[in-house]
Amino acid sequence: MSMMWMGGLMAGGWDRSNEVVQVREQAQNQQQRIKELEHHVARLSLLNQALWELIRDRLSLSDADLQAKANDVDMRDGVQDGAVTHGPLQCPQCGRISNSRHGKCLYCGLEFEKPAME
Ligand SMILES: [Zn+2]
Repeated sequence: MSMMWMGGLMAGGWDRSNEVVQVREQAQNQQQRIKELEHHVARLSLLNQALWELIRDRLSLSDADLQAKANDVDMRDGVQDGAVTHGPLQCPQCGRISNSRHGKCLYCGLEFEKPAME
């Protein structure tokens, strides 16, 4: 075994362990980020529930009213999928199709109703 070969092997091994350390750090950062997002979502869910109960009780609404409104909002992007995403939107004024992310009709300029939370 020559000294040069040994040196090359050790250098290669060193690079490898550096890569492993970097990948491990990236994985830890991602896990931390996911934890923060989960905490954020849990807090938003709590506030959302509190807001709904406050509004429901003050205005004598029902959970069915909320469900109906949620379905209505869900369909604004043309897809009933439980989420509001950017997608094709038919202009209520000229009937042509624009993408909802533009915020207004590309043909007649009508401003689309903006979702309150985006
Ligand atoms: Zn239009």
